Amino acid sequence: MIKQIFAKIETDEELLPAEIKELLQLEDKAEIKTLFDLAYKIKLKYIGNKAYFRGIIECGNICMKDCYYCGIRRSNENVERFLMDRKEILREAVWAFENNYGSIVIQSGERSDATFINLIEQALLEIKDHTGGKLGITLSLGEQTPATYRRWFNAGAHRYLLRIETSNRELYRKLHPEDHSFDVRLNCLKSLREAGYQVGTGVMIGLPFQTIDNLVDDILFFKAMDIDMIGMGPYLVHSETPLAKEMPNFDSRREYQLELSLKMIAVARIYLKDINIAATTALQALKHDGRELGLLAGANVIMPNVTETEFRPNYQLYDNKPCMDENSSMCRGCLSGRIAKIGEVIGFDEWGDSPHFASRQQKKV
Ligand code: SAH
Ligand code: SF4
Repeated sequence: MIKQIFAKIETDEELLPAEIKELLQLEDKAEIKTLFDLAYKIKLKYIGNKAYFRGIIECGNICMKDCYYCGIRRSNENVERFLMDRKEILREAVWAFENNYGSIVIQSGERSDATFINLIEQALLEIKDHTGGKLGITLSLGEQTPATYRRWFNAGAHRYLLRIETSNRELYRKLHPEDHSFDVRLNCLKSLREAGYQVGTGVMIGLPFQTIDNLVDDILFFKAMDIDMIGMGPYLVHSETPLAKEMPNFDSRREYQLELSLKMIAVARIYLKDINIAATTALQALKHDGRELGLLAGANVIMPNVTETEFRPNYQLYDNKPCMDENSSMCRGCLSGRIAKIGEVIGFDEWGDSPHFASRQQKKV
């Protein structure tokens, strides 16, 4: 049976949901290796062996939301809150630009007040100005109104990451307070597309209450939404969150979480082919070379932290986040070496847009 599935992948035939499930449930190490190799081959065919860098600027940890899994949720009183000013955001963006990162991601806790919306808009305009429009900009700033998404798009952002977290409504409800709405999040993904962004979404993998069937549905959801980019990674416990008690044995699950996340990346690559897929920092929190393993399982984007070291300790979505005391230059040097070692080339100075987005645009004409 598994041989037949592998053969189908080799000939580019579309997998059935039951086959996706079987892949996610693989336990035999040799078979898992075959899965990753097949996904890597598909990456080479549709994308090449280039890893694109997105310097991530974590510009603030003030959040109106109270997601049960996240370390910077509103109710966590142990967090020292911060918000960068325009100059600080610009400084880090320019650092990324001068260090040949083709793109950045600006991420923060969720805020929808006018001060925040203006700050981001101004920062975008200034970054565009200072880099001659050459630096690609992705935003990851949560749920906003269609008007806000449009304003930020017009100010120069062109990609947006908003994870659905899980495509299963019931599971979504278990992970969030009642006033957090799955439908609102879903509609945000639609508004982002309408505003013109390349749209990225993703899920957490290995969540409490999550089944393998849920993950299969997540993969089908990505396809049904025709998304351009995926940023997904393992769920990691943050000890000061309500969800932590659901997984008291987290340490013994680390390897399982890593392997399942890599299998999801591989299956997403095989099923969706020409999209961008990130090897997220959360993979590295589970294993020092977790992101490289992600690239080898089919991912093609890495998001090195370019946030100033002084801010990093206050942006901990989960426990044991890596590289807390390294500055951006150290991150750049360290990563470049690691990527060369696995035979990949870094797409310096390139935006590295999702080929999937480009082909959808072409179809429209
Ligand atoms: N506030 C924005 C962006 C910052 S959070 C938003 O929520 O969209 C970015 C991502 O971090 C979230 O989408 C979530 O998937 C992830 N995250 C939060 N807590 C996490 C945890 N404990 N383990 C793994 N990922 C987590
Ligand atoms: Fe806020 Fe995002 Fe964390 Fe939810 S996941 S609490 S929205 S920062």
